Amino acid sequence: MRKLTVPIIALVLMTNACNAPKDTTGINLKNLDTTAVAGNDFYQYACGGWMKDNPLTGEYSRFGSFDKLRENNLNQLKDLVTGIASKGGSEGSIEQKIADLYNIAMDSTKLNKDGYEPIKADLQRIAGLKTKEDLVQLMPDLYLSGVDTYFSISVDADQMSSKDNLVQTYQSGISLGERDYYLDNDAHTKEIRDKYKEHVIKMFKLVGFTDTQAQANMEAVLKIETRLATAAYDNVKLRDPHANYNKMTVAELQKLVPAIKWNAYLNALGLKNIKNLSISQKESMVEVGKIIETEPIQCQIAYLQWKLIDESAGYLSDAIYAQNFDFYGKVLSGKKEQRPRWKRSVDMVDGVLGEAVGQMYVKEYFPPAAKERMLKLVGNLQKSLGERINALPWMGDSTKAKAQEKLGTFYVKVGYPNKWRDYSSLDIKKDSYYANIVRSNRFDHAWLFGKANKPVDKDEWYMTPQTVNAYYNPTTNEICFPAGILQPPFFDMNADDAFNYGAIGVVIGHEMTHGFDDQGCQFDKDGNLKNWWTAEDKKNFDARAKVLADYFDAIEVAPGVKANGKFTLGENIADHGGLQVSFNAFKTATSANPLAKEDGYTPEQRFFLSYANVWAGNIRSEEILQLTKSDPHSLGKWRVNGALPHIQAWYDAFGIKAGNMLFVPTEKRVSIW
Ligand SMILES: [Zn+2]
Repeated sequence: MRKLTVPIIALVLMTNACNAPKDTTGINLKNLDTTAVAGNDFYQYACGGWMKDNPLTGEYSRFGSFDKLRENNLNQLKDLVTGIASKGGSEGSIEQKIADLYNIAMDSTKLNKDGYEPIKADLQRIAGLKTKEDLVQLMPDLYLSGVDTYFSISVDADQMSSKDNLVQTYQSGISLGERDYYLDNDAHTKEIRDKYKEHVIKMFKLVGFTDTQAQANMEAVLKIETRLATAAYDNVKLRDPHANYNKMTVAELQKLVPAIKWNAYLNALGLKNIKNLSISQKESMVEVGKIIETEPIQCQIAYLQWKLIDESAGYLSDAIYAQNFDFYGKVLSGKKEQRPRWKRSVDMVDGVLGEAVGQMYVKEYFPPAAKERMLKLVGNLQKSLGERINALPWMGDSTKAKAQEKLGTFYVKVGYPNKWRDYSSLDIKKDSYYANIVRSNRFDHAWLFGKANKPVDKDEWYMTPQTVNAYYNPTTNEICFPAGILQPPFFDMNADDAFNYGAIGVVIGHEMTHGFDDQGCQFDKDGNLKNWWTAEDKKNFDARAKVLADYFDAIEVAPGVKANGKFTLGENIADHGGLQVSFNAFKTATSANPLAKEDGYTPEQRFFLSYANVWAGNIRSEEILQLTKSDPHSLGKWRVNGALPHIQAWYDAFGIKAGNMLFVPTEKRVSIW
């Protein structure tokens, strides 16, 4: 199912049981590899044992501490969902919806018997298009049912007037997700492109097309997607909020992109009385209009059919699912085995009925005491960042005062939302898995588009409580820590401060620092895209940020492949700031009653071991290449080996010296927060 576009800055990219440590330090010594030299490869030193004990299984292209905790959560959700699925519930109840959705997703006999029958009517509807006008008229209906063509559209805070919602379009419509896959000409990318072509042909054949038709359709799809990719902004330009804000009236848009009758289009989506909207990537949208006008209707039919097949592949027969996995799972990420059906089914129930499942999850698994301790930690981190801002040598007093104001108005969310989403108007029936997904997409879009012309609801959550992640949202200036992440190895009620400040403390600091990273610093305390810096301070900030961008640009993540320092800059600044702020808060919190050396490690050493263990993980070479193209976060290894060499306290804790491979001379280290 397509994910709705949200502007939040998450801790990790979402793709997909941790045993609670038994001692009070929280550190599991088995995670370490003490044969490695801390100063040469701290990642191996701190996490080598974990990586040896948690080898990649066929199902995973990357498996780390996050994934391990997600597996644990998934098992908890499975207990909840299967418990309900075996009993069912009265018609229209949440129990009935959970039960019927899970059971139909698990019913392989029905899925295989139905084959591609569930999408046949839509394939024919698309095939019946005669003119460009027909095409434009069909687009909104396909979009509502979850088929993303040409571009996407959403409702979110107006970045220049953050209390109000604004309709916004985004570049989209390319199945490989990243424009580079269509444009780069290195051997790896070319191979992926060739395999993608084969995949498109095979999928068309699986839904009843002849060899000749499938071949012609593939060529049309590639032509249109390559045009979309060429006009799309790259990942670095997408990080510039001003370049991606183009508010205009519907009449102005009508002039800019005449191929679509915009009033009719918006009305068909349920977006009534829209006066203004932002065309986030203007040139990309102009190209969409040109594609619609210039490509032959037969080619556009092939493209729309492809988008339908591609989006629905997860909900049809096993043969279709297997081909889909062959490409996206094996070729693109290097996975060896499909995810078991029960996991996919629990994930889907979780995706469709997220807050209903979340409400049950929180009741069962989230103790109120955890919320209290978290709020205290957040308070201490906020104080620490405030102290660091005051002490900054490079920032002037007027900017400092505004930064303090922004910090003081952070909206903090911990655990679960105050109010829950109402699923009463979503029908889950026994007709087909795919039909339920379509109803769910329509339900989600009605909810989303219902926000247009209304003020922003600050109490809305962008993640469900069971999610193992965290986020900062610049337009509401909020930091959010769902219940799912408030467990070991991130947070442990029984562990000491060295452990908790090193793990969840850095996560909290990371999210806070996003308010002041290269993107976040462009938004003021009210979430408006408005400069609050003096020119001199901004110049200092940019020069310091550049040190980090250049440092990561030089990191070789795979033979001949470098990290993208500008693309990952915001996340790297946040990791750096998170470490500085949390270490400072940790020292303050323990100054009256310093912790003792335990298990052979000083409290300071345990802080950094705990931090590194958050990023422990194994990864396949295909996934390294894919994430380097698509993920604004650095790879786990570099969130440790790239971040720590800029932290003086880490050198002090482990006695790292010149001559150690990770050593960076003081004058070359980044110093922002
Ligand atoms: Zn982040």
